[in-house]
Amino acid sequence: MSDINRSRRRQFPGTEAPADELPDLPLEPLPPEIPAHLEAKPAADAPIVLVPVGSVEEAVLERIRPTLEETFRRASTVHKPLPVPKYAFNPTRGQYHSAAILKRIETLRATEWDAAIGVVDVDLFVPEVPFIFGEADRSTRSAIISVTRLRPESGTPESKKELLLKRLVAEAIHQVGLIRGLAQCPNNRCVMFYSATVQDTDKKGASFCANCRKRLISDV
Ligand SMILES: [Zn+2]
Repeated sequence: MSDINRSRRRQFPGTEAPADELPDLPLEPLPPEIPAHLEAKPAADAPIVLVPVGSVEEAVLERIRPTLEETFRRASTVHKPLPVPKYAFNPTRGQYHSAAILKRIETLRATEWDAAIGVVDVDLFVPEVPFIFGEADRSTRSAIISVTRLRPESGTPESKKELLLKRLVAEAIHQVGLIRGLAQCPNNRCVMFYSATVQDTDKKGASFCANCRKRLISDV
């Protein structure tokens, strides 16, 4: 397996953690060393770039930008939309292959970025699991998240929209955290907690626990 594949950090669904208990997390090794030619940290003014892929409301991305900027103390931009990712569609599964879309996002690296987060509104999969909320690749500092499974099923149109935004913010911060070198966190109130369900995402919120915050700050 290549360095790039090994450095992918995914959020796998399917492990149910009892409420209020620290879960028995899947054992994940710390991310491997980043290849020397990619090791340099981005410039202090390199932005976080949000990349809509296919049909994603730009207004939604504009709403999550301020929280990302505040959390990571970085400017952020919204890239022009990429086309609907038909190339990634798997007709047998009726889903889209996450790695194929992530690869396309990585090729955008025309200018330096602190992190690039692709946002799609299609159901993502990797071969091993039924679906994923998102995945990140530390070596190219890029990630992808899907809106599809974060969308609330009940509530008023306004409350559904607000909850979706909260979930998106949490997932985007989680992915940038992975790109910044944080691992999944066993604290279920920490944004770096491994979400198996949207309920996990709702519970963990968008803040770092003290340990993760410390690691994050020491990295900046
Ligand atoms: Zn944590």
